[in-house]
Amino acid sequence: MIPVQGLAGARVAVLGLGRSGLSAARALRAGGAEALCWDDNPAARDAAEAEGFTCLPMTAVDHFADVARLIVSPGIPHLYPAPNPVVALALEAGVPVDNDIGLFFQSFATRDWDSFDTSPRVVAVTGSNGKSTTSALIHHILEHVERPCQLAGNIGRGVLDLDPAVDGEVVVLELSSYQTDLARNLTPDVAVFTNLSPDHLDRHAGMGGYFAAKRRLFAEGGPDRAVIGVDEDEGRFLAGQLAQAPGDDRVIRVSVERKLTGPGWQVFARKGFLAEYRKGKQIASIDLRQVAGLPGAHNHQNACAAYAACRTLGLAPRVIEAALHSFGGLPHRSQTIAEVGGVRFVNDSKATNVDSAAKALLAFKNIRWICGGLEKEGGLDGLAEATGAVRKAYVIGREAAGFAMQLNVEAEVCGTMAQAVARAVAEAEAGDVVLLAPAAASFDQYDSFERRGEDFAAEVARVTADG
Ligand code: ADP
Repeated sequence: MIPVQGLAGARVAVLGLGRSGLSAARALRAGGAEALCWDDNPAARDAAEAEGFTCLPMTAVDHFADVARLIVSPGIPHLYPAPNPVVALALEAGVPVDNDIGLFFQSFATRDWDSFDTSPRVVAVTGSNGKSTTSALIHHILEHVERPCQLAGNIGRGVLDLDPAVDGEVVVLELSSYQTDLARNLTPDVAVFTNLSPDHLDRHAGMGGYFAAKRRLFAEGGPDRAVIGVDEDEGRFLAGQLAQAPGDDRVIRVSVERKLTGPGWQVFARKGFLAEYRKGKQIASIDLRQVAGLPGAHNHQNACAAYAACRTLGLAPRVIEAALHSFGGLPHRSQTIAEVGGVRFVNDSKATNVDSAAKALLAFKNIRWICGGLEKEGGLDGLAEATGAVRKAYVIGREAAGFAMQLNVEAEVCGTMAQAVARAVAEAEAGDVVLLAPAAASFDQYDSFERRGEDFAAEVARVTADG
């Protein structure tokens, strides 16, 4: 655990007692602060009370009279579409709103570091898609070279659950837009921006707010190095804004759409090959087509971003290349779960938005596509250009009929996963890929994208065993 520094003796309110909230409460207590907790869910309150925390409705804290800060969980709206009522009270009372990430950055460095040979560093990854894969990949590469490292944030552990750093350690954080928007302190040493496409727009009052939230990772403390995907205008804008001059190698530009030229530092992938250029000279080239755990151009983008981040930490290209080959991939992201009778089954349940589903569709051929669910804002138009390899869609979800009507491919309304898998298997021929890439959230039928992916895997196992 990372005890919170700078709030000893203060009262700090903690709203939301999930993984990050409860660990924030513990870390506050360890740092000498008094944590006042609340969650609308009685079971979450019971768990906190069992650990000796005081839970009380925050509307009763006398309008936050003695409260130094309000720590808010990422699932709770802090501003848009409207602040949660407790957050609104804090705002009115002038109480600063923060989260566990802000507490982490204010508390990570300690006196112990004075005796270290190599200062610990924080690599933080944000972007619309590829955050988890890129973060896990950086962590995997660091493990491969036996560098002390830990992974946390939106993936795995809560940041305040991390162990205090040892000499030379690298902490890799995956940070969502909610997290970067709220954190009062945000000072990574290396910051990575994978890409940007519309998502969570309601929570950020549109695309501008969404980009602004992600940009904070590069603005607040000014990281030593910034790895930036430049395949969208926003990435190009950000890279241009951070670079002092065209050759400034504080910024590493990443692309999977074009060969990057110029005097700066760049990493790009084309036709399956990663290339690193610095000051106009090629430094390295890696054949990504042989890297089984990272299929498709979208994963090549993640590979480039992770490669660049590791280069800023001084790792050599050949070492990184070796580590890429042993990366197993993450569950529910372009994950091959079975191969039966020449038909491959791929679980990309994490494709909860249009962009990630489009990327998955571009990574495979002869696709029998299982899609549908709770549609996100912005419509499905972005899928149209990616469906060239789709033989047929099998649509799930409560609104499956409406979803199917918006697709530019032959689509069968299946409703349930069981039906969709059964129909896809019945029609699949050797060489086909049955791909779950929903392009929608799962909450109309499942608790989470993980449950949806597990259901897909279970149905595939059942149907292929029957056959
Ligand atoms: P995040 O943590 O940002 O949600 P993940 O690595 O979990 O990212 O991937 C989320 C979804 O996006 C998955 O469906 C995955 O296949 C797809 N994806 C992964 N990397 C990229 C990328 N660089 N660009 C677009 N889609 C991606």
